[in-house]
Formats: sequence, C-alpha cells, structure tokens
Amino acid sequence: MRAGDTLVPYYESMKQRQLTWKRLIEDAVATMPVTFSLSDVLAKREAFAKHYPQNRFVDAKIRQSLQILRNQGTIQFLGNGLYRRLDVSPRFSPLIDETLAAQYAGATQIARIVLETWAELNLYCLRCDADALDRLPENTPVADFECLSCTTRYQLKAKNGRFGTTVSGAAYAPTVKASSEGSMPEYVLVEYDRRFSTVVFVDALPGRSITPERIIPRRKLSASARRAGWQGCNINIDGIDRVAIVRPAGIAQELVRSEWLAMLARSTDERC
Ligand SMILES: [Zn+2]
Repeated sequence: MRAGDTLVPYYESMKQRQLTWKRLIEDAVATMPVTFSLSDVLAKREAFAKHYPQNRFVDAKIRQSLQILRNQGTIQFLGNGLYRRLDVSPRFSPLIDETLAAQYAGATQIARIVLETWAELNLYCLRCDADALDRLPENTPVADFECLSCTTRYQLKAKNGRFGTTVSGAAYAPTVKASSEGSMPEYVLVEYDRRFSTVVFVDALPGRSITPERIIPRRKLSASARRAGWQGCNINIDGIDRVAIVRPAGIAQELVRSEWLAMLARSTDERC
C-alpha cells in the first residue's frame, strides 16, 4: 500500500485494538443486565460507529447481530424489544433475516449487510484457530475480510441460489495484479435461499487457484454511469478444488427416533 494512503493508519489502529464486529457486539451484550432492550444496545451505536466510521448502516448491523446471537442461542428474544442473555457458547446458525435491514437500504445493500453480518458472526479463519474474521474497510481493493491473527484475507461472494461456473469479481486491473502477484484472497462462496431465510451451501476455494487466465474482463461502464470507465471482471471458478464450510445436514437417527417415540408417548398421555 502506498505511503500516505489514508487506509493505513485507520487500519493499523483497528488492528491494534483487535475489535471485530463479533467482539464489539458480544462485549456490548456481556456488559448488559441479564434482561436488556434493543434500545440499550442501539444507544451504543456511537461507540460502534467509532470503530467502523465508514459503516453507514450501524443500526442495521446491530439488529442483524442481535438476530444472529439469538439464532446462535446466546440470547433469547422476550418480545417488545426485550432480550435475555443466556451466557452459553454460541452455536453455528445458518439463519438470516433480510427484513431487519429492509428499512435502511436498497435490495443489493440489504443482501450485503445481511450476508456480511452473518459471515462476521459465523465464519472463522480456515488457516489458524481464530474464531472470527474482521471486516476490512469498504474501499479495500479485492478483499472483504481478514483474520487478525494470521492476516489471511478472504473475499465473500453471496448469491440467492447457486453459483454457476463464474462469480463476479472486483475491478479488473487490481484483480489481475493480485492474481499475478499471488496475493489473491481466499474465496468464500455463500449460497443462500431467500425463501427460507437460510444459508444453504458455503464453500471455500483458495485464491491462488484463481490464475490470471481465469479473470475475464467485463465491458467498461459507459460514460453516463456513476462510475464511468470503471471495469469489473468475472472469475471462472469452474473445476477449482473447494472445501465445504456449510452443508444441509440430516439429524442423527437416534435423536430423531427418541424424539418421535417421546412425541408418541406424549400424545398417548393426552388421550388418557
Ligand atoms: Zn487466521
């Protein structure tokens, strides 16, 4: 990165403090009384915004984060904007909720806020044992997330439905440069289903597999576009080896049977 680039001091200071969104929200909840309200958490928005001055959707992120903590089982929603802290370890949750961001932004931004927040609270580093990834500043070229422990970078791609053989990339020239230099981030592909508000398949593929010949330039944006002359790219991911992070799963036979038998026993009791 160039000397004098304003990203450097901001990013360095963020790194020293090592505060991810996940940590910010979890810390905020941990300092709340056992029962707390949404407005108690929203009241801390300025403290959050200080850590993420470029984030324009702090309220949406807070609501999303609380929703995810609820889905992960660490807080309980009591109704009327009240929550109870349960003080248990979070478990992975595939659930997302686009309606919570709907009041803040357009459709593309909603999907981005929702999936990024989901990733911040559920994804982890693949290379080391860090259990969270940090969001990089919005204008970071090529990458979205970084592990603060080992500096592995990740690019998140999300799609309602399944990806085909290509995914859309960032700006063409920086992507080719990153690929030629061997500095492409790892790619995390999130395939979700809006109808069921759930993430269905998540795969990771190594950035080093994205060689320059896989990067296909798109036509430059026309003179009338907001970013006239900007050139994006598509990335051919056909046949690249990948590792599964999330898959739909069945429930263990013994558990299903015991639940079934318990249910039958209950309904027998009710008839007596
Ligand atoms: Zn790491």
